[in-house]
Amino acid sequence: MARRKFVAGNWKLNLTIAEGTALVQGLAKALADKPTTAEVAVCPVALALNAVAQAAKGSPIGVGAQNIHWEEKGAFTGELSATLIKDAGATYVILGHSERRQYFGETDATVNKRLGAALKAGLVPIVCIGETLAERQGGKLEQVLSTQIKGALAGFTAEQLKTLVVAYEPVWAIGTGVTATTAQAQETHAFVRSVLRQVVGGLADEIRIQYGGSVKPDNAKEILSQPDVDGALVGGASLKVADFAAIIAGA
Ligand code: PEP
Repeated sequence: MARRKFVAGNWKLNLTIAEGTALVQGLAKALADKPTTAEVAVCPVALALNAVAQAAKGSPIGVGAQNIHWEEKGAFTGELSATLIKDAGATYVILGHSERRQYFGETDATVNKRLGAALKAGLVPIVCIGETLAERQGGKLEQVLSTQIKGALAGFTAEQLKTLVVAYEPVWAIGTGVTATTAQAQETHAFVRSVLRQVVGGLADEIRIQYGGSVKPDNAKEILSQPDVDGALVGGASLKVADFAAIIAGA
């Protein structure tokens, strides 16, 4: 079954409300001038989510959050629930990004809880996985990815995971300017799909697996042309209309 390419921008801790709004308006104009068959989303800081979602209305650009808490409400100071994020205009949510794993103690178990909350609220989850350079060089790539996938998806049925998107992001390629080679990306994506097949059976052929890690206009087309690469999760290059639009065109 053909999987529709999906390109999402992770704005991380960047852009004010005004800057984010202007960026999405610029992107909407670029996509109106050069329409794409790909699904497109941007993930601003939570504070800008509502304004960016309003500004994206009428365009093909969806909006996502960069994280959610698993609890619905209560005494959880500083957290945001899936329902609140959805109410603010989000369709998607990034879960388990390596920066959250590295700096904020995210684990496969907490990703799993957040995934439950996202699915319950009807958000499309983008679950991030990826190995460090030491893990890849130490021959642990498959073990690490398999553990992350199985840990994140534990306890959910294929039926529940119908909307799941997985982002394979080698940690050594995020924000470093170093990209996995096309062959490394395809080989690893095929492995990720094989693990997904163990977990959700035939649904694995429908789950989009995005590549993330220094995707730029000049490398996007080649990476995105690989059979198991179904899109991209883009950090730095999603902060400029021209670059992000060029990456989308490469999809
Ligand atoms: C990311 O943060 O998901 C990412 C892939 O960042 P960059 O494109 O900047 O490497």
